[in-house]
Amino acid sequence: MSNKEVDKLVEEQLMLEIDVVDDNVYNERLEHCVECPSLVYDTTCSHCGCFVKYRAKLAYKECPHPKGPKWKKLQPS
Ligand code: SF4
Repeated sequence: MSNKEVDKLVEEQLMLEIDVVDDNVYNERLEHCVECPSLVYDTTCSHCGCFVKYRAKLAYKECPHPKGPKWKKLQPS
């Protein structure tokens, strides 16, 4: 699957989600992912198998890194 196909799939799936983070949190999470050695194919977290562009948008998800989450904990709203 090409990165463009992944982007389209992620976009379609995210339209169905309501518990999502704002763009600041989303981009901050993705910044960690692009620097992370656990990111494979430029799209996928090797620990959970998720497309990071999808997982990072979901408020109820955490970074699954076995040494501890790399994403910042969300402040309770
Ligand atoms: S371990 Fe965390 S930071 Fe690394 S790719 Fe997976 S979700 Fe992203």
